[in-house]
Amino acid sequence: MTEEERRQIEEKVAQARERIAEAAAAAGRRPEDITLVAATKMNDADRVRAAIAAGVDVCGENRVQELLEKYEQHAYDGCPLHFIGTLQTNKVKYLIGKVSLIESVSSLKLARVIDKEAEKAGIRQDILLEVNIGREESKLGIDPDELFSVTEQIAELEHVRVRGLMAIPPKPQPNQEKTLYFDRMSKLFIDISAKKYDNITMDCLSMGMSADYTEAISCGATIVRLGTAIFGARHY
Ligand SMILES: *Cc1c(COP(=O)(O)O)cnc(C)c1O
Repeated sequence: MTEEERRQIEEKVAQARERIAEAAAAAGRRPEDITLVAATKMNDADRVRAAIAAGVDVCGENRVQELLEKYEQHAYDGCPLHFIGTLQTNKVKYLIGKVSLIESVSSLKLARVIDKEAEKAGIRQDILLEVNIGREESKLGIDPDELFSVTEQIAELEHVRVRGLMAIPPKPQPNQEKTLYFDRMSKLFIDISAKKYDNITMDCLSMGMSADYTEAISCGATIVRLGTAIFGARHY
């Protein structure tokens, strides 16, 4: 990568930090309570290192294969790593011990596999439950109506610890409130926190991407996941 590209990433991370701080202040929150995850898909190890040097809190990867390749290249050294993409049960074993948080746990079945693999490794794996807050056919995630019963069952697994909720909401229609789905997530988060399940610490609400992270913060997001806002457009 060129020096110019490095400078751009540095600038964009600084800009994102500023906007996060403004949105937090406007909501009466502290900027340090919001974790900035760089969504690093399609960006090579050098660009990932540039984002880490620029001060992102966490790297987030979508694909297991891509994560393993960059992990081998020591792309994430010195930075916590989250998994944020679609996860097949047969790939769980590759993540255990490498990621501090699996954000995209979209079913009880997947949670059970993570529990089993974490037990083998002798660890307890932190996870977030991904909610299909827009009830979209095309998306994975736990149906909001089933969230409480699923959470109760996951709470019984001894080798996972639920740390909160994650969502990739649809874009609201022009006639809908811009924060419609973020508000719904926030309400679910508060309601589940109030239940005080054993083994569950609800301290993470992961929502908001490049296009809408300031709105997400105003609705209580504690983790925002930024790709294009840091790295520019992805070239598929
Ligand atoms: C790619 C991705 C992001 C970041 O998307 P941008 O719109 O580029 O900020 C966030 N979360 C997940 C799960 C992603 O796959």
